[in-house]
Amino acid sequence: SADSAYQYPLLIKQLLTSAQRFETENAIVSGEYRFSYAQFNERVHRLANTLKAAGIGEGDTVAVMDWDSHRYLECFFAVPMIGAILHTVNIRLSPSQIEYTMNHAQDDLVLVHDDFLPIIDDIRGELKTVKNYIRLTDVAGSTDDAFECMGEYEALLAEAESHYDFPDFDENSVATAFYTTGTTGNPKGVYFSHRQLVLHTLNMVNTLNTRSNEGALLKHDGAYMPITPMFHVHAWGIPYAATMMGVKQVYPLRYEPNTLARLIREEGVTFSHCVPTVLQMVIQSSEAANTNFDGWKVIIGGSALTPGLAAQALELGIEPFSAYGMSETCPLMAMTRFTAADRELPTEEQLSHRTRAGLPSDLVDIAIWDPAGNPLPHDGKSSGEVVVRAPWLTQSYLHEPEKGDELWQGGWLHTGDVAAILPNGTVEIRDRIKDVIKTGGEWISSLDLERLISQHPGVDTVAVIGVPDERWGERPFAMIVPKSQDFDVASVATHLQQYVDSGAINKWAIPREIELVNDIPKTSVGKIDKKLIRAQVAEQAAN
Ligand code: ADP
Repeated sequence: SADSAYQYPLLIKQLLTSAQRFETENAIVSGEYRFSYAQFNERVHRLANTLKAAGIGEGDTVAVMDWDSHRYLECFFAVPMIGAILHTVNIRLSPSQIEYTMNHAQDDLVLVHDDFLPIIDDIRGELKTVKNYIRLTDVAGSTDDAFECMGEYEALLAEAESHYDFPDFDENSVATAFYTTGTTGNPKGVYFSHRQLVLHTLNMVNTLNTRSNEGALLKHDGAYMPITPMFHVHAWGIPYAATMMGVKQVYPLRYEPNTLARLIREEGVTFSHCVPTVLQMVIQSSEAANTNFDGWKVIIGGSALTPGLAAQALELGIEPFSAYGMSETCPLMAMTRFTAADRELPTEEQLSHRTRAGLPSDLVDIAIWDPAGNPLPHDGKSSGEVVVRAPWLTQSYLHEPEKGDELWQGGWLHTGDVAAILPNGTVEIRDRIKDVIKTGGEWISSLDLERLISQHPGVDTVAVIGVPDERWGERPFAMIVPKSQDFDVASVATHLQQYVDSGAINKWAIPREIELVNDIPKTSVGKIDKKLIRAQVAEQAAN
């Protein structure tokens, strides 16, 4: 190559440059705030100067504890763009877990919303590496002298210089880090580089805009609102994609179902993504009755979309799609591809297209392996562990490289999910390895059972787990939120009998034990918490 050839590093700052080339009158909305892209750009520069004034430089870590806001989006850019690492703190963990993650990530500066000041007050003395705090508030100009910090975010930005010279540096520098929620023991940190996030963003845009025959999901004349928290896998990285494209963005702060429905209506939201339970909350909110959801496209991920929920959504004019990903994979691995031909299919088949994990994204290699590490055929029948390769997978666990060896075996990242792959490449998640119910030598997928039970007309939500059984090893147990009080428990077995008759499941799959509840335990990001359900059932059994 020529001596003067420039080796172009893939850096997050380039995503922000693209944003300026589109309809800059498109707004970024959050609470009382509303900014143009031009203002947003300037605010990122001001934030960078504020961070520098706080002593933050390359390799330092900046923690954010906030609801989904314009501030968070500004941090998504300014923090990595100055070469620092953005730690998106999972504010739904317990205070002691939050303390653990902040010490473990070696946070230097913390940006904290008023709502989380009580947590910080409790753990402040234990945070070993934190040198300074910035207060975030939704009430412009409000002061809180009791909280010792560098100042309030908006006031600091107003005082800061409006230009920052963002440097070039190694595209492999770590840009973001956060902690997983699912496993037992201490949360584990994952991390992503500038290069990984840029490639993920380009791929996300391409995937979002090519998977529906109804056209692009991210549109310049539409509006995007995340309903997957920004602390969790950067809200699937879609804020980066929406910003790069200059699309109108709506940040809902804390997730209050009526507010979400109102924002969809008033801000003209056309595209969102969330876990299934959140979609359910939104469409069941009282504001939903006054809201026309027609044309709202929603990607469901993080847990399987059930046909029951997909059908409810379609009835309201919502277009549901599925996506498959996990914290360790940045997260995008696969997404529904819905073609014009699919739209002609009978409803039931349409639903199954929408509820499958979908077709792998470009640059994502997905295979299924048996326990001995042999690849299995893509015949729609064989099922094995999903293993993956892509340019944007966490290379290990943060500061715990030994734990990464379990994640990465034989050069493939092991997801812990069991799936089949159809001949056309579509991934069909069967279950998580640890949730499969092993009964009398048979393996029953808890997800399959949930899918079938969710089609019972009286069932609102359902979770199925395996409970220990002396004779069979395990047997299925179902926790159901019924739609009404007069739900007949025996009707579940009657409903499932049709699937036994058709050979879809065997008779051992019919849960003998069903508990009716008002609410199913959820994890910090709103997914059904099977670990907790197992613990509750075990406790009841012991008493
Ligand atoms: P947690 O383990 O705390 O839920 P993640 O957000 O990383 O943390 O969850 C990733 C897991 O969610 C995947 O490994 C998979 O089991 C599940 N999942 C994600 N998307 C789907 C989907 N479309 N269908 C079924 N399961 C999914």
